[in-house]
Amino acid sequence: MYDLVIVGGGPGGVAAGVYAARKKMRTLLLTDSFGGQSLVSADVRNWIGTKSVSGFDLAKMLEEHLRAQEDIEIVADDLAEKVEKKGGGFIVRTKGGKAFETKYVLLASGSRRRKLGVPGEKEFDGKGVFYCSICDAPVMKDKTAAVVGGGNAGSEAVLDLLPYASKIYILERSTGLKCDPVTYEKIKTSSKLQVITSAETKEIVGDKFVTGLAYKDLTTGELKKLELDGV
Ligand SMILES: Cc1cc2nc3c(=O)[nH]c(=O)nc-3n(C[C@H](O)[C@H](O)[C@H](O)COP(=O)(O)OP(=O)(O)OC[C@H]3O[C@@H](n4cnc5c(N)ncnc54)[C@H](O)[C@@H]3O)c2cc1C
Repeated sequence: MYDLVIVGGGPGGVAAGVYAARKKMRTLLLTDSFGGQSLVSADVRNWIGTKSVSGFDLAKMLEEHLRAQEDIEIVADDLAEKVEKKGGGFIVRTKGGKAFETKYVLLASGSRRRKLGVPGEKEFDGKGVFYCSICDAPVMKDKTAAVVGGGNAGSEAVLDLLPYASKIYILERSTGLKCDPVTYEKIKTSSKLQVITSAETKEIVGDKFVTGLAYKDLTTGELKKLELDGV
């Protein structure tokens, strides 16, 4: 019986693993890989203590740090599939058929990018299509960017882009932005920002890198195009 089973080998799960081991809890960390989302990041610049580190190197650092702990067991080639309640604790069942009994479970299984599912999105991933504005806003320095979605995440992406991009479109499918007023107050005065509502993104176009975006104007049914450098 473990005290704790941690699900996930990203920064969150590994941090929890290091702390649990230091507290001498009988801990198992279960993951299929280390690094999580940051693995594919070309350059992480806000990992405190390092000016710049690639996601690949950060993943190695995380794994090494975790493996340096004496009091932790690691399963690094499996996925949690089911968590069942048993008595006062839980059983974590894995895809590979293992079962771990534990008093507590920490789910640090992270998140996945929500895709638009439009042509060009996959092709230009990392070549003008970005999912993390705080990470990639500097790439848009003096360039034109579009943010798809006018909710809180989209509006906060605009906030991240404002110091860098020369022009920012925000495309929202409904008739108005859905972000919190406090965020809207911060972005609405910028002359760089153009809000386009009733706009359904249809395609991201480019050659080597993104050069534009096509959207359907839902009020007229017309297909319109924007020239830009990043989405
Ligand atoms: C391209 C990109 C660049 C980024 N750059 C930066 C940056 O520069 N700075 C910054 O601060 N943030 C950046 N981020 C965000 C950052 O990577 C995330 O905030 C961070 O990785 C979240 O860590 P996490 O441990 O919570 O989850 P995740 O990183 O999502 O890790 C989840 C882990 O759980 C594992 N897992 C999932 N399901 C299961 C399961 N069923 N069983 C077992 N294991 C499972 C996964 O394999 C993974 O190892 C970036 C994200 C992306 C996508």
